[in-house]
Amino acid sequence: MRITALAGGVGGARFLRGLLHHLERTRADRTELTIIGNTGDDITLFGLRVCPDLDTLLYTLGGGVHETQGWGRADESHHVAEELAALGATPTWFSLGDKDFATHIYRSQLLGQGMPLSEVTRLLASRWGLPQRGVSLLPMTDTPVETHVVVTEGERTRAIHFQEWWVKHRAALPAERFVVAGLDRATPAPGVLDALRGADVVLLPPSNPVVSIGIILGVPGVRDALRGSRAPVVGVSPLVGGRPVRGHADVCLQTIGVDSTSAAVAGLYADFLDGWLVDESDQMAGTSRPLVSARPLLMSSVEAAADIAGAALDLGLSLASKDTPA
Ligand code: GDP
Ligand code: CA
Repeated sequence: MRITALAGGVGGARFLRGLLHHLERTRADRTELTIIGNTGDDITLFGLRVCPDLDTLLYTLGGGVHETQGWGRADESHHVAEELAALGATPTWFSLGDKDFATHIYRSQLLGQGMPLSEVTRLLASRWGLPQRGVSLLPMTDTPVETHVVVTEGERTRAIHFQEWWVKHRAALPAERFVVAGLDRATPAPGVLDALRGADVVLLPPSNPVVSIGIILGVPGVRDALRGSRAPVVGVSPLVGGRPVRGHADVCLQTIGVDSTSAAVAGLYADFLDGWLVDESDQMAGTSRPLVSARPLLMSSVEAAADIAGAALDLGLSLASKDTPA
């Protein structure tokens, strides 16, 4: 079986770690999982290329993530950041630990030698043992892409990097819109379209629908591949009780003029979504497409995430068997 998933950082990674746990406990070991990761969050800091969502996926699936934080490395020290602060280097609002720095140094070294990000990511994934578990991690594109936010402060309107808005301002600066520099000219990374076209099931984890999934869908060719996919596409709502479990997806939705409801999020995917998992507290009117199923959606443990991922996969497989002529 071939599963392809689109993913942002923490929400995507926790869901996919659950999916792997589910596949391993049900002994569906011959499953291939291809993850298409968001690179709109990428940022150059201290001369180093940082890919927050790809790294969160690597660390979480590789067993090296800081569990309570949800991102960065477990058992981390911060000597480099302290020394940078003593030097007066900026910015100081983005936290990078020492082990994490090694990832960014290695990535930047290889990118500087002309290696595409997809190839660098493949090497990093080997470090974390992903191939042995049947997992391929692909950046959505090798083209450098950056999500910016147009914000207004008093009379002044300017665009700032998504990370500055999200991390430094905690999404509290009024945002007018998101602009993704480089996205219109980006091409899908090698393997991305094939993974969407060749999948048996496509999963959308409960990642941020605007600045994670929405950005991946904006890579030219990706949305069309999903529309034309023979595989069922099943999504998991990132909202529980109409609110994001963590982060500011509600502010992102408001910025693009969409209600903070699971039904409205499904509407963003209406042209290709076949199945939609919502939390029990977010019951929405049943529709024939997407087929809606309600269950608890809080990923409170790896087991809970595995149950949710298993439910999403089962919904996809039930939809696939319906499509197969008898
Ligand atoms: P980010 O890049 O680190 O922001 O992570 P993602 O884009 O992958 O995921 C962020 C989304 O995950 C947020 O909108 C959260 O609401 C959602 N999320 C986090 N934990 C949970 C959970 O336990 N259940 C559900 N349903 N969504 C979650
Ligand atoms: Ca992210």
